[in-house]
Amino acid sequence: MKLQEYINFINPAVFKQAKTFIRSEDFMSLKGFGLGDYYEASINYEDNAITSEVVIDENDEVQKYSCDCRGNNTLCIHIAAMLLGIEKMRQTGCSDYHEAVKKLDLD
Ligand SMILES: [Zn+2]
Repeated sequence: MKLQEYINFINPAVFKQAKTFIRSEDFMSLKGFGLGDYYEASINYEDNAITSEVVIDENDEVQKYSCDCRGNNTLCIHIAAMLLGIEKMRQTGCSDYHEAVKKLDLD
């Protein structure tokens, strides 16, 4: 399934929480690696730093995702927040989410 389809598929309650979460300090970083198909986020979860990962291929297809929170591999708010962030990163061509946000604010 493509990135945009995943975003459209997110449960509305989770989507709302994810939009708040991505703006919070608990969403510490989101970066893209390699050719931009591997994304890693550092997240503050119950006072621990955990890592979430998303892999997307060059055709925008989401290959896999994982998160160390108790949600395991269900689409938790952390992964939902990552998908929203990755969309902005791809729009701006930034490999760092917080750089992408700055760029969008300037436009
Ligand atoms: Zn999670």
